[in-house]
Amino acid sequence: MRTFTCSCDETLFFDNSQCVSCGREVGFCPACRLLVAIHGNQAIGYRCGNDDCGAALSKCYNYQFEGVCNRCVLLETVGELGKNFCDCCRYNAIIPDLSKGDNRVKWRRLEAAKRRVFYHLDLLRLPRGNASDGLYPPLSFDFKEDPTTWSSDTGSYVTTAVLDEQEVVMTGHLNGKITINIREADPVEREKLRVQFGEPHRSLIGHYRHEIAHYYWDLLIRGKREEAFKDVFDDHNNPTYSFAMQQYYQYGAPQDWANRFVSAYASMHPWEDFAETFSAYLEMTAALDTAYHMGLGGPQIPRVYPGADFDAMVSAYVRLGTALNEMNRTMGLKDLLTRSLLKPVAEKMRFIHRLIEEAQTNPGCRPPDSATI
Ligand SMILES: [Zn+2]
Ligand SMILES: [Zn+2]
Ligand SMILES: [Zn+2]
Ligand SMILES: [Zn+2]
Repeated sequence: MRTFTCSCDETLFFDNSQCVSCGREVGFCPACRLLVAIHGNQAIGYRCGNDDCGAALSKCYNYQFEGVCNRCVLLETVGELGKNFCDCCRYNAIIPDLSKGDNRVKWRRLEAAKRRVFYHLDLLRLPRGNASDGLYPPLSFDFKEDPTTWSSDTGSYVTTAVLDEQEVVMTGHLNGKITINIREADPVEREKLRVQFGEPHRSLIGHYRHEIAHYYWDLLIRGKREEAFKDVFDDHNNPTYSFAMQQYYQYGAPQDWANRFVSAYASMHPWEDFAETFSAYLEMTAALDTAYHMGLGGPQIPRVYPGADFDAMVSAYVRLGTALNEMNRTMGLKDLLTRSLLKPVAEKMRFIHRLIEEAQTNPGCRPPDSATI
């Protein structure tokens, strides 16, 4: 991730909605794809503060009325000021019940992580869309919570999911719909789950990267590149997903999983191997993009863009990881980069790299028009 610059020259960060120095409102402009000061007001609309752009803008509905977004939409595309969704929020099908507890706080965290992932997908010029974009499967998001009932004993909502396991909301992907249990947006709950599953990290951004990978399998591989996929990840039809899942939860990952897979979970089934490897590729390219823009790692850090040299990225990432892990250990924190990129794993990542390159030229996919690199 890069930083941005306000009209007053103050540095802006990706999540900002106001400049801490001059107090101007800021928003992400879809025309120049920068976070900028926005001049104007909601009654007459805004203008992008980037002098080279100056696009007429309206705030995303979720920015204007809900305070969970900082993106704008082009004024020429909106019917009514402030009543349209940006290119991140427009995919939401179900949002949390905002009358309850701290659901708005959780929703804000969920949207912030989604925007960051979408920014990166645009950087890689990966297509995404729904039925109106002519893409199948249509991408959408459900943010759901386990069912609760009001308990007069405790004076709070209590989950009924513990009474009936069938009611638990599973974070996952099905036919383009990504469901996230909003419990994941509670850092205490998420840490409990991380420890329970023995994961090195567990984050909202990580959930998006994993689940969107399943979406890209459906969009870019199903019925198009399945044979090439099998050559690298093995046969996704044999064993069946349900059998593989049952085996994994009964016997766990093979002892030597780290020699062949990017994570223990990746060993469950080729679809999960793909999702974990795709997610690791997004992690690598996002970390390199941030290092490049922040000046970490010196001149050998390659710029991330479709078509960048894969081997140069992997070796730069390994070097960067060594340095950042030592820095974290210095500060008494967990290792930052935990993936081992042994050759079999790196070769699967090379498949992902080529897949993303090919997505640029696939006429059935439409990358964003003006992604900046
Ligand atoms: Zn400013
Ligand atoms: Zn602009
Ligand atoms: Zn929005
Ligand atoms: Zn998965």
